[in-house]
This record gives sequence, C-alpha cells and structure tokens, in this order.
Amino acid sequence: MSDQAGTGLAEQADPDTDTCAQRRIGVFICHCGGNISDYVDVAKVRDALKDEPDVVVSETELFACSDGTQKEMVQAIQDENLDGLVVASCSPKLHQITFQGVSKRADLNPYSYTQVNVREQCSWAHTDDHEGATEKAIGLVRAGVAKTRLSTPLEPLVVNVTGDGYNRFLKLRIEFEASDVELKPEIEARLPQLRDALIVLLSSKQLSDITDFEGKALLKEDILERVNDLLETGEVKSVLFTEFVVQ
Ligand code: SF4
Repeated sequence: MSDQAGTGLAEQADPDTDTCAQRRIGVFICHCGGNISDYVDVAKVRDALKDEPDVVVSETELFACSDGTQKEMVQAIQDENLDGLVVASCSPKLHQITFQGVSKRADLNPYSYTQVNVREQCSWAHTDDHEGATEKAIGLVRAGVAKTRLSTPLEPLVVNVTGDGYNRFLKLRIEFEASDVELKPEIEARLPQLRDALIVLLSSKQLSDITDFEGKALLKEDILERVNDLLETGEVKSVLFTEFVVQ
C-alpha cells in the first residue's frame, strides 16, 4: 500500500491481551491524484496523525476510492484489528457509502467509519495558502479521530410502535458519544442490558410522540437518562440517531 507512517503491528499492544480501553483507529489520507496533495501536504497530515491517541495506522493513498486501495484497506483493517476507520478525502456525499462498504467487507461496523472532507474544505477552499490548508486539514482529521474514539455505534434496533391505530415498525440506529474513551468497554459489556432498556423504552412510545423534531429530541433525552442509569464508569454525553425509519 501506500506511504505509511503507522506504528506497525510489532510495536502495538497485543489486542488479545491489552486490557486498557485503547481503540485501534486507521487513518487514510487521500491525494486524489493531486486534487488534494497539490495544496495540502498530505505527508505532514499523515505524520501529525500517527501520534494521535489510539491511531495505529496513518497512511496516504494516491486514490483511496480505487478498487485496489479499497482491497488494501480491507486487509489493513483485518491485519491491524482496527475498530475505527477515518478517511480524509472528498465529500461524504461522494464516497461515504464506498468506505462504509470497505468497513463492512472487513467485518467492521460501517458506522465506525468517519469521512473527513479535506478536498472541498481545505485544498479547494485554500488554493493560495498551502500551509494554512495543511494545518486546517490536520485539525479536521484530528476532529474525525476524536469523534471515532468516543463513539460506540449500536446495531440497529427494530421495535413495534403504535401509530394511527396500527402497529408500525421503527428501525433506529443509535450511536453513543461517551465522555471518555474508558467507557467503551463497559458499553460493549453491557450491550444486552442497554439494548433491552432501549427496546422497552421505544416500545412504550406512540409513533406521534417521536416523529417530529421535538419528539426526537425528547426521545434522545430519555435514552440518555436510561443509558446513564445503567453505566457506572462514566457517562454517555450525547445520543445520535444515524438512521430513523418508520414502516
Ligand atoms: S476518495 Fe475522493 S478524494 Fe480520494 S481519489 Fe476518490 S474521489 Fe478523490
């Protein structure tokens, strides 16, 4: 693959024996041919990111969306036991689904993937300031890594809710943002209780209570309260709905 500044498996804690709450995040920074790297110093971004907490792979890619690179990313996720993926490239509108697909093919939850748009927001927006564009890119990619470190995406919940006199199905995909990365192991250990509490809560709702903006905001507050009642080592600070479908 590509130009790598990762720390490499040999230097990493063994994920099978490592008991601390470390994440294993891979960061891939795309040249987009020269669309990005003509203006942003992608090697500097790579080097800045390799020392971020929980980043175990930091690489640049000539064309991240090419078939060959996607295969190499799948391999890297599996070889390095990555539990989070960040790609710094173009708009999520263009390739979010592509890289969620990469995650899925590597058996990684696709919602553990974060896309950072450095092409439109850095390269194309600051063609006359390469240094500034590079610093902005470093900041945005760091923010993407921070989001990935603190997030725990759940498998989707499908529950029966009552609406218009009929039974309807709600498919809800939730992501927790924790106050501290140390909370992730407890969330994972308590997933059955958390899912049970969420199913009971959602099943108690009328569809009309949760479909508008205000209803969704109140539902998030209810979920936050239920989840934090169950957790002991820290707090979930926000709840994100990444899919909300009623049928
Ligand atoms: S992933 Fe986006 S930024 Fe990278 S090569 Fe493909 S289109 Fe260009």
